[in-house]
Amino acid sequence: IEETIGDLLDRTVRTHHDREALVDVPSGRRWSYAELLVDVERVARGLVATGVRTGDRVGIWAPNCAEWTLLQLATAKLGVILVNINPAYRTHELEFVLNQSGVRMLVCAESFKGSDYPAMAESVRPACPSLAQVVVIGRASWTELLNNASLVTRTRLLEIQAGLRPDDPINIQYTSGTTGFPKGATLSHRNILNNGFFVGEGCSYTEQDRICIPVPFYHCFGMVMGNLAAVTHGACMVIPGPGFDPAATLRAVRDEGCTSLYGVPTMFIAELELIGRGGEFSTADLATVRTGIMAGSLCPASVMRALIDAGVTDLTICYGMTETSPVSTQTSPTDPFEKKVGTVGRVGPHLEIRIVDPVTREVVPRGTPGEFCTRGYSVMIGYWEQPDKTAEVINDGWMATGDIGVMDEDGYVEITGRIKDLVIRGGENIYPREVEEFLMGHPDVVDAQVVGVPDAKYGEELMAWLRLKEGAAPLTAEAVRAYAQGRLAHYKVPRYVQVIDEFPMTVTGKIRKVELREKGEQILHEQE
Ligand code: ATP
Ligand code: MG
Repeated sequence: IEETIGDLLDRTVRTHHDREALVDVPSGRRWSYAELLVDVERVARGLVATGVRTGDRVGIWAPNCAEWTLLQLATAKLGVILVNINPAYRTHELEFVLNQSGVRMLVCAESFKGSDYPAMAESVRPACPSLAQVVVIGRASWTELLNNASLVTRTRLLEIQAGLRPDDPINIQYTSGTTGFPKGATLSHRNILNNGFFVGEGCSYTEQDRICIPVPFYHCFGMVMGNLAAVTHGACMVIPGPGFDPAATLRAVRDEGCTSLYGVPTMFIAELELIGRGGEFSTADLATVRTGIMAGSLCPASVMRALIDAGVTDLTICYGMTETSPVSTQTSPTDPFEKKVGTVGRVGPHLEIRIVDPVTREVVPRGTPGEFCTRGYSVMIGYWEQPDKTAEVINDGWMATGDIGVMDEDGYVEITGRIKDLVIRGGENIYPREVEEFLMGHPDVVDAQVVGVPDAKYGEELMAWLRLKEGAAPLTAEAVRAYAQGRLAHYKVPRYVQVIDEFPMTVTGKIRKVELREKGEQILHEQE
């Protein structure tokens, strides 16, 4: 799409004027596309009246809510760069992000999970010289912003919009911080609008679709694969709640008749667990769901199978990263079953991918693991004001993802983990993913994570962290060994086994293996 987000929105509104665009389930508010445009323009005019200009950075620090979407589209209409701030951040990280991207106005939530956002924002203000204003959604400062809209004409707004170009920066998204400190990826209209559109094509969206979005807006998964996929197809965005809650999500799906459902694997696992328990929910609650997206981390084949069995036949898996707007590959409903559950699909339209040797950077033969790289419209402009970091990952237009992938003869890719998570035990490369899938086949295991811990003899040893079914007796390392006997090569059998109630997570619902590794190391240290 050779267009800015604002122009695209206007086009959608002309075609799908009266169609439902947005539903905020907790507050019961609803917008048609025509109503959405009115409110988006109101926010945009309010921003101009307050002195916000094209190229300025406006931060949003709030869990999912309708205002998030309004602000996303309003800033896009002005060429104002929206800075997505993780709602789990506290003052230390907030201060870092505000200063790193030079945020002029911060829009924040009143509270979420007992945290007072305005108070935290005020406390960092003295340390953030660029920060001129804090606006709190739901309080007087937000109402004032909306009221100020009357000071700016619609003509003025359209003039600003007409001056924007598809390659202008429009968004700074910080990566999840799964492997370390988050980095701010700078993305353009072209980057995210096209990615949203093609991902929506991959789900065959039409204006009939209603997309349930329990994944965070502050992440590409929510704001691009959710909001922009919807807006580019005239579909409806359904917000089940501010944070992820499996019951609220299933209720939103049922009550709103959603046709599409999103989640990282842990979210789908939680929903399936709830359905499996009986009570309020059953697979009948998923009856309207035709498609959806599972993404964000390794998607276990067992979960994919369970969802297809539950009737979500056209569920797709996407693979990508913030730096690539985000999606690079997607499975298709028409793929053979084993590709649908066992791979992340094939390359998206207008993108190139290749798998290279991490050391020589040569393309490896099909079937050989290597680093997944991609080139095309989706690659970010760069890390915000970090040219050195950008140069480390983008070379000749190719983005090096840091993920290990294998491509088969037909172009299907399997992601086996991150280069950083690869375990090398006594010279043998072990892909934790393979061991995790194996352990999840155990009748008592709900979810398994495998990490490498330091070992004097082998360099690294495997430690499995297991989440068990309710009421199951703890699994010991001996029991796991017995289960693996004759079925898994000896060097892949975890030496250590730990049972855990909840994995340490990022807000995007990704398991922080770094923490599991550290915890594991500590446990071994204490045992010495
Ligand atoms: P950071 O870069 O800060 O450590 P992060 O990489 O988790 O955090 P994101 O950009 O949110 O930040 O996530 C992208 C990563 O998520 C990919 O590089 C990949 O490791 C993982 N990922 C995403 N989708 C999939 C998938 N379908 N299968 C396997 N891994 C996936
Ligand atoms: Mg990353």
